[in-house]
Amino acid sequence: MSKVKLFKGRNFKNIELYKDISKDEWNDPNWQISNSITTLAQLEKVISLNDFQKKCIDKAIMTSSPMRITPYYASLMPQDSFNITDKTGNSIPDRVDPIFRQSVPTPAAYLFKVGLDDPMSEKDRSYGCVYQRYPNRVAFKVTKTCYTYCNHCQRKKDIGKTTSEMAPDYEKGIEYLSKNTNINEVILTGGDPLTLPLDILDNILDRIYSIPHVKIIRLGTRVPVVLPQAVTDEIVDVLKKYRPMFISIHCNHQNEITDEFRIAIDKLKNAGFTIFNQMVALNGVNDDFKVLATTFSKLYWLGVKPYYLLQCHKTARVGEYIVPIQKMRILTNYLRGHISGPAIPNYVVNMDGGGGKVLLTPSGYAQERFAFEDSKSYLPIHIMRTWDDTFVKYQELLDMTEERYNDLVDTMDEFYGTKGKFKLCVNIIDRHGDYVRSTNVNVKIPLIKDKQYLHFNPNEILGYSEGPYGPVTNPQEAHEDFEP
Ligand code: SF4
Repeated sequence: MSKVKLFKGRNFKNIELYKDISKDEWNDPNWQISNSITTLAQLEKVISLNDFQKKCIDKAIMTSSPMRITPYYASLMPQDSFNITDKTGNSIPDRVDPIFRQSVPTPAAYLFKVGLDDPMSEKDRSYGCVYQRYPNRVAFKVTKTCYTYCNHCQRKKDIGKTTSEMAPDYEKGIEYLSKNTNINEVILTGGDPLTLPLDILDNILDRIYSIPHVKIIRLGTRVPVVLPQAVTDEIVDVLKKYRPMFISIHCNHQNEITDEFRIAIDKLKNAGFTIFNQMVALNGVNDDFKVLATTFSKLYWLGVKPYYLLQCHKTARVGEYIVPIQKMRILTNYLRGHISGPAIPNYVVNMDGGGGKVLLTPSGYAQERFAFEDSKSYLPIHIMRTWDDTFVKYQELLDMTEERYNDLVDTMDEFYGTKGKFKLCVNIIDRHGDYVRSTNVNVKIPLIKDKQYLHFNPNEILGYSEGPYGPVTNPQEAHEDFEP
């Protein structure tokens, strides 16, 4: 029994598409994989959609953003994903369901096309399936398959493509690893490595592990989140042969932390793996103090170390998910002290063009703090210092004309059925491409109030007990209450 309060999705028997499915089928990962939702016809038997929403989703799937959602992950969406409530039944008026927002394509996929096809310049820094940006470690891309396609994926243009032709890429990748003796760590990524046939995964791991100078493997996967049933004993037995190995998962919201997720994590932990989480900061999903604090804490309590909070890439068709850096810095700053230290990840941005990660986590250095919190609007262009001491300009938002901005926001308002749930952060430019303003100004809250505290109160949001002990920060202040 877990002490952590876990999210419970819908009973699949209450979902029209699955009402005739047996429990054994539902728990069978192969059944889940072959019954993934890829069409509107399937989706409309899982959640309620009006005619306009159906038309838009179909157009998005057909033209811009293929959809794939495991039945399990789909069961985490409420029937009405556009009008959601918290656990006490109170409406959350400015949000739609976080699982819906991450996995169901919307009009933004075809109306907001601008962005980078290859934000990390992978095609200029790769050899076969190996991508490198640091001297000692490489990403080794083993597949383009995922069990659920994320709307915010940085490799959006590749995901879903067949992987049958990847063998020559593996050979080149292994050749590079063998020859470059500086490489001591390999990060297995994709797509999702845990979607590979087990014999292929075993073979790749064996060949990498056999290279004498490779000391450690890190494996990135979203399977424990989108299809935890697929973390089978057979997969764990294969992975165990290559310990020590770090497993890096990708959980973005507390509604992904279910009992099924916990069971998958326990299996990996009991097999001796250390598990990290890499969360992506997502507009309308987790750009919220309570969501961040709750999700990081629950992961930590289940034995998963929150490692990175990543600024969303400016990938084409993904721009609607970008959260202003300033907003995330304010929110993450107030995690310190309110949740345990190891539960706080590093907030980082991956620089365009393969510049590597730059730390954005705010520090307690007061001059820096006032500089970003007391300013009003700000130009979302930053000078970053990268790991190799290069100073690089980083533009955090994508550009859009006023006309396209209004068109997109109006369409999304109609799609969501109300104004105010779709908050787009972009730079507005004129028809000559010159900067006019940034729409991030409207979301640059919470603000410091009179330099005292916040418009939001972390104590209240996190539900500290107001009983005799709370929230004291020094036992001596309350010692009379707990004298025997
Ligand atoms: S699991 Fe990862 S690689 Fe796959 S679609 Fe999601 S973000 Fe992209």
